[in-house]
Amino acid sequence: MAGQKMLKFTQIGREMPEKRPPNLRKEDFSEIYAEYALEKAEEQAARCSQCGVPYCQSHCPLHNNIPDWLRLTAEGRLQEAYEVSQATNTFPEICGRICPQDRLCEGNCVIEQSGHGTVTIGSVEKFITDTAFEEGWVKPIRPSMERSESVGIIGAGPGGLAAADMLRRQGVQVTVYDRYDRGGGLLTYGIPGFKLEKDVVMQRMAQLEDGGVQFVLNCDVGEDLSFDAIRGKHDAVLIATGVYKTRDLPNSHAEGIVSAIDYLTASNRKSFGDDVPEFESGELNAEGKRVVVIGGGDTAMDCVRTAIRQGATSVKCLYRRDKANMPGSQREVQNAEEEGVEFVWLSAPDGFEGDAVTGVKVQKMRLGAPDATGRQTPEVIEGADYVEEADLVIKALGFEPEDLPQLWGVEGLEVTRWGTIKAEFTTGKTSLEGVYAAGDIVRGASLVVWAIRDGRDCAEAILEYLGQAETVAAE
Ligand SMILES: Cc1cc2nc3c(=O)[nH]c(=O)nc-3n(C[C@H](O)[C@H](O)[C@H](O)COP(=O)(O)OP(=O)(O)OC[C@H]3O[C@@H](n4cnc5c(N)ncnc54)[C@H](O)[C@@H]3O)c2cc1C
Ligand code: SF4
Repeated sequence: MAGQKMLKFTQIGREMPEKRPPNLRKEDFSEIYAEYALEKAEEQAARCSQCGVPYCQSHCPLHNNIPDWLRLTAEGRLQEAYEVSQATNTFPEICGRICPQDRLCEGNCVIEQSGHGTVTIGSVEKFITDTAFEEGWVKPIRPSMERSESVGIIGAGPGGLAAADMLRRQGVQVTVYDRYDRGGGLLTYGIPGFKLEKDVVMQRMAQLEDGGVQFVLNCDVGEDLSFDAIRGKHDAVLIATGVYKTRDLPNSHAEGIVSAIDYLTASNRKSFGDDVPEFESGELNAEGKRVVVIGGGDTAMDCVRTAIRQGATSVKCLYRRDKANMPGSQREVQNAEEEGVEFVWLSAPDGFEGDAVTGVKVQKMRLGAPDATGRQTPEVIEGADYVEEADLVIKALGFEPEDLPQLWGVEGLEVTRWGTIKAEFTTGKTSLEGVYAAGDIVRGASLVVWAIRDGRDCAEAILEYLGQAETVAAE
């Protein structure tokens, strides 16, 4: 009986996989959580109450069938759990690691609301798929029929790759173009290894390549190859280029002031063993420096924790609101605090000192009246300014879309007033015939799981657009 295995939340407490102690994890870029042992995964999955209205599922952007794969895990039917899990999620092992579960599935778990501590959904999801890879249950991409139509995908981030996977499984000829030398987008060059080890991403790249997806890397569309050329070559095109324009601060270009994406990319490249001159020269290396990171989102959290691992002498994070009002995940703040990051709440930059930076001029803030969105607006406390000493300042204030129609010289590609591509909800159709868009370039800076959802939705819409055109038998 399923019921006997489940509903264990009153007897068994919530337990995350073991977290490495801060003094050890500070020494490397490996993930901080260990894998569950099989018994622990089964035990934790058995805490699910199998409630009739699974809010976890409705709050997962992919509507993963969470109660079913938790039940199968609790019953020791791991391969079936994997089959159910992968049916709705192209990269469950990645989402299990880096979704902000506290805001999505786990944040809406019914037993959490009854005070028992949420089911550790993300960790079980990761465990199931990691086990599936180890056991050889992850099937290679082998379409039963080859189709003659081809789709060009611009951007090898999670949005583009999720679409590539679905299209290729249907036998479509898929070419993915990316300006970087490796695929994965922010999974590879943005998110640090202590949240998502690089092998996990490269394993998916290898699966896609092995399945016949063509990658054209080091190809900056708009520079090396025009958008029109790609459109002319393929029956449909998907734009999944993400958002990379860094929000900036006035007069913030002195030596020693760098952008988060440059800093994190250099660090991730080092993890691959690449030569990174800006790292070797010290420009993008925090070792031996007093580091100040400006911003309160997940990118800022990744920067502070990277700086700790690079051997900074001190790492401070300036944020203009307080802890309760920061956009970053509370779990990541806690991890950062454990690793020795100091948060300087209610503090905003008001300029910098030194030709080569020596400090950040800081204004102290208080939270005033709520704005139209109900969020309290930070106000300056007059006369409380001070200078925070720094040798390296990292700007992590968020990202905006580049002006693609202008960059690529494309007429008729409509964008919103925020500069994101205007795309139809659920299909990703843009204003151009046969052109679709997915991920951050449509939503603005968002989440991996939403990019996957968009990529899958676009793939479905593209398949419908291509219709039942001629198919040729696979060899
Ligand atoms: C530091 C950081 C940490 C994050 N942490 C998390 C997290 O923990 N959890 C989470 O869910 N989300 C996180 N995010 C957000 C998440 O990474 C993004 O929402 C997600 O990667 C968006 O996917 P995408 O496919 O739309 O774009 P991207 O991942 O940005 O991929 C876009 C790809 O397009 C390529 N490209 C762009 N322009 C061109 C061009 N002209 N020609 C060719 N190629 C081009 C880029 O090189 C890139 O490879 C984080 C983001 C950052 C910056
Ligand atoms: S994909 Fe993300 S939100 Fe959905 S179940 Fe997995 S961890 Fe939760």
